[in-house]
Amino acid sequence: MIFLLSNILFGIGFSFVAFFIFSLTKPRNRNAAQFSIMCLSLAIFVLGYALELRAQDLEQFKFCLKLEYFGAPFMTVFWFLFAYKYYYNKSASYRLILLIMIIPITTLFLSVTNDYHHLLYANIALVQYDDFILGNITKGPWYYFYSLYSYIILAIGIVLFYKIWRRSMKKMKLQAFLMFFGTIWPIVINIFYLFGFSPYGLDLTPFGLFILVICYAIALFKLGFLELQEIVKGITFSEISDGIIVVDHKNRLLDFNTAGQKVFGWLCVHHIGEQLSEFEWGEEIIGHTESPFVIEIGKKDCRNTYEFRITPLKEKGHTLGIVYFFQDISEQQAIIEKLNHLASYDSLTQVYNRRKLMEEAEKESVRAVRYYDCISVLMIDIDFFKRVNDQYGHLAGDEVIRHVADACKSRIRNIDIIGRYGGEEFVVILANADQHNALKVAESIRVTIETLKIIYEHHLINVTVSIGVSTLVGIKGDIDIVKVIDRADSAMYRSKETGRNRICVEL
Ligand code: GH3
Ligand code: MG
Ligand code: MG
Repeated sequence: MIFLLSNILFGIGFSFVAFFIFSLTKPRNRNAAQFSIMCLSLAIFVLGYALELRAQDLEQFKFCLKLEYFGAPFMTVFWFLFAYKYYYNKSASYRLILLIMIIPITTLFLSVTNDYHHLLYANIALVQYDDFILGNITKGPWYYFYSLYSYIILAIGIVLFYKIWRRSMKKMKLQAFLMFFGTIWPIVINIFYLFGFSPYGLDLTPFGLFILVICYAIALFKLGFLELQEIVKGITFSEISDGIIVVDHKNRLLDFNTAGQKVFGWLCVHHIGEQLSEFEWGEEIIGHTESPFVIEIGKKDCRNTYEFRITPLKEKGHTLGIVYFFQDISEQQAIIEKLNHLASYDSLTQVYNRRKLMEEAEKESVRAVRYYDCISVLMIDIDFFKRVNDQYGHLAGDEVIRHVADACKSRIRNIDIIGRYGGEEFVVILANADQHNALKVAESIRVTIETLKIIYEHHLINVTVSIGVSTLVGIKGDIDIVKVIDRADSAMYRSKETGRNRICVEL
């Protein structure tokens, strides 16, 4: 019978060896490394135990026992590290690994040197039964301590797998269930053994591992636990620069990736299963149904713009949840804004350039016509500007143009539009202003510029402007804003002709 048991154990042990080798061939899978080393430790333990059952004398028995301890104390720890990697999607820190390895390493050391201190086993003897010999072990204090430690580690690992099982969907859920379910049996059997319920004092724990072998085999070969989709998921999920948040159909957090975590600090495994709306920006994210959408995230002075894309998770017409992909588009946004600014603003005066001016004027005229409103146009041209250039130089001329633009801006409202129409000509579109109002604004601009004291390299430069005024009355007016500007231009020329530094209205 013992021979049969030992053969079964060889079967289980070599299964773990096979899993170990198999997972070595999947180095790109994110869980493969942890899984393989765990299988190796399990294999060493089970094979050691299988040999131990065949031991014919004390020396052989002791040798097998030592061999077993190259696996036994480590398998729970490696199993825990595997659960940790699976749960957190990242390897445990070296510090944590080192910390939890202290007791297994000590146990191995005590096992090898047990003859000198008997801390692990107080006594080892062989007992002759009718037709077989079995080792009989009297446990030492360290044995109990190390067993307790292994149980604590196992309990934490089981909780992790249980949580993965609860939080996962579909295939992942079944995988996690198998990892969880498979581990329970060796533990149950081990508890029986520890309480002395095993026949002949045989440690039947390895036989519980038989169920684990079946579970792992299903996970590996039926569910492709270490296969391509897992690799792809690993890569897309953890390595792409896009942030990912997955929610279920009730907007509860299901999954996320590292890139997402960097943006939203609240993306952590402890929050899986909780409503997204409970977290900062969560409400805003789930509030959007259009894709893509943009959210500004961050404090007032350092806001980043994120573009979100929505991908619904559907199966047979049912929505299972939503995947949000998002990326920081602040830099592109800043570049676009800069380009827009360059394309719309005159670099010398920071008022609209002619193209943008005409575009805005067009919009304003459409609005005015629609609402039977009126708008007025001022054409402003600096008088004798060539003289400024001739007398003080081109740079002085630039300075004057800047001052005139600022003066114009200072006399108009935010809703009005100002643009540089030509070299030293400006157009102002006064929203909701009839001719009377327009004349008042024009006069205020004229006076402001007349009294401007522009200083350039110790020279005081005075300029005046001539202004032409035209008005578009929505209900009966000319819808073509270009013609209205033209009329303002003609009026401005009449101002020039009639002595400059004055305002003329269209005829
Ligand atoms: P008028 O009173 O009849 O308007 O006389 P004017 O000298 O202002 O004549 P005009 O409007 O024809 O001349 C405009 C001058 O403005 C011609 C050009 O050399 C100068 N100018 C155009 N753009 C700029 C600029 O960006 N900087 C400077 N410094 N001068 C410019
Ligand atoms: Mg001029
Ligand atoms: Mg001119």
